[in-house]
Amino acid sequence: MRMLLVEDDKDLVTTLRPSLERAGYAVDVVGNGVDAEFLGSESLYDVIVLDLGLPDRGGLEVLASWRAQGFTMPVIILTARDSWNERVEGFKTGADDYLGKPFHVQELLARLNAVLQRTHRAAPSELLRKNGLTLDCSNQTLTTGGGLSHSLTGVEFRLMRYFMLHPGKILSKSVLTEHVYDFDSDKDSNVIEVYINRLRHLIGKDKIETRRGQGYLFKGE
Ligand code: CA
Repeated sequence: MRMLLVEDDKDLVTTLRPSLERAGYAVDVVGNGVDAEFLGSESLYDVIVLDLGLPDRGGLEVLASWRAQGFTMPVIILTARDSWNERVEGFKTGADDYLGKPFHVQELLARLNAVLQRTHRAAPSELLRKNGLTLDCSNQTLTTGGGLSHSLTGVEFRLMRYFMLHPGKILSKSVLTEHVYDFDSDKDSNVIEVYINRLRHLIGKDKIETRRGQGYLFKGE
């Protein structure tokens, strides 16, 4: 899952980012409203965490602009402005959830998980089940048909989760690359093939089809 973290508090970013990455998010950080508005309109992100008090343009204005342009990605507002009327304003503008500062990172992770599960219309659970596979998002473990458990690396986990949330859809190499890596990673889309072959080795070759010239398709059942 690729996340845009819009936050101008550098200390908070420093503490938050490693926890988000450990939880399996590829995180891009932006610290002002103008760049945030632009990046959020690139349709790259599976979820956005948005601070309200930002330089250049306020978070609510940024959110209103995304929604006016028809962008529906889930947005969680994270802010010190935490009175009830500000929350109401946030939801009216199009936020999916709202968390007041200070907060505990575990609560943010739980809310992110719930928002993403809702977006993908699955049961609110840390377990994703598809095609005889169970992916445990809390410890990034994949259980395959014979009941065998495999610990996945960060990239393998993000790739597998993306496949399981989009069963039956053709996903191009570039889409997979965008959703699995952050800005700072070396985005060689050929590496995706290597990871897909490793996943196939774990789950069985036929579960991820190659569609020549188009991409890959994970079979949901
Ligand atoms: Ca701020």
